Amino acid sequence: MDAFEYQSNPSRVIFGSGTINRVPDELVRLNLSKPLILCTPQQVGQAETLRDILAGNSKLAVAGLFSEAAMHTPVEVTDRALERLRASAADCVVSIGGGSTTGLGKALSVRTGLYHLTIPTTYAGSEMTPILGETDGGRKTTRSDPAVLPGTVVYDVALTLTLPAALSATSGVNAIAHAVEALYARNANPVTNLLAREGVRALAAALPELAADPSSGPARSAALYGAWLCGTCLGGVGMALHHKLCHALGGALGLPHAETHTVVLPHALAYNAPEVPAAMRALAEVLPGSGGDAIHGLNVLLDRLPVKRGLKDLGMREADIDRAVEAALSSPYWNPRQIEKEPIRELIRRAWAGEPARADL
Ligand code: NAD
Repeated sequence: MDAFEYQSNPSRVIFGSGTINRVPDELVRLNLSKPLILCTPQQVGQAETLRDILAGNSKLAVAGLFSEAAMHTPVEVTDRALERLRASAADCVVSIGGGSTTGLGKALSVRTGLYHLTIPTTYAGSEMTPILGETDGGRKTTRSDPAVLPGTVVYDVALTLTLPAALSATSGVNAIAHAVEALYARNANPVTNLLAREGVRALAAALPELAADPSSGPARSAALYGAWLCGTCLGGVGMALHHKLCHALGGALGLPHAETHTVVLPHALAYNAPEVPAAMRALAEVLPGSGGDAIHGLNVLLDRLPVKRGLKDLGMREADIDRAVEAALSSPYWNPRQIEKEPIRELIRRAWAGEPARADL
């Protein structure tokens, strides 16, 4: 056994179907009484259901519902939410939604010290991380701070039934990407390795089932379980090329988060493959139809999902390839394989064109 360090992120996790009904008791046991509910404009319906459930407990008085959560946590939205928070004298925040809404909950909690209970409804995994990315005037900054980590995470499989089929697929592959990079992280350790393998196994089996039947309870349950494990990987170890590339593509070109992760993942893995044989073996074991080749296994998985395969299909122009290369190379970071400009350009070109990933970069 190699030497390792392991850091866990303490949070309380509740998993099941219908668990939204347990939120009132969770707040009461924490001596909290006045939650501000957070959501996006698209999820007001689920947030109102939560408000009604909370209103049914005599020890709670809902402070209000703020429904302006948006992608990449813009600070102007956070500032408006802060005003609502202060004006209503809320004593905690409860976020219900995907990574965007969790991000707003984190931004409010880290600024005010208020308790954050989150109810994730996608597979993005933000709820398990002490990481917060925020945008101010188009500039994105990211910080990692234990105070960012939500205190309680309530996973309710029933709430994920409304996640559209395409977003279920890309969000699930976004989660798989956390586990893939955890397997070759600089600070990889036996615990995150176990979580990563089990997370990929659960999601790789569930996502094609969801593509065929988005209302499948068992597949929804397995996918959310896998997303929890993969999110724990993201919160536990450092990420590398894949996440940096997606961050650069999102930041420089405004490409959508989960869709970009989905297109780039097999190509980023192909780039790193020569330097990470143990991770390649571990992934090949848990990807159905891999035939012992993790890159092939990812290609097979994506073939079975309702996802776009090229960055050009997400609105990126061919002329933007060099801009993307510059953005990807602009800030140095650790990666198992040295970052070389020409192969990175070819990686981005293949991802742009939607070619299947190949291990010859
Ligand atoms: P999202 O939160 O932006 O959600 C996408 C859309 O789907 C929204 O309109 C949302 O309301 C809707 N939606 C979510 N769940 C739904 C459901 N069950 N039913 C119907 N509609 C639903 O997307 P995301 O991919 O979850 O999150 C992306 C954001 O999260 C990005 O800003 C990304 O940077 C951030 N993120 C942060 C971390 C972290 O650790 N800090 C990790 C992952 C993602």
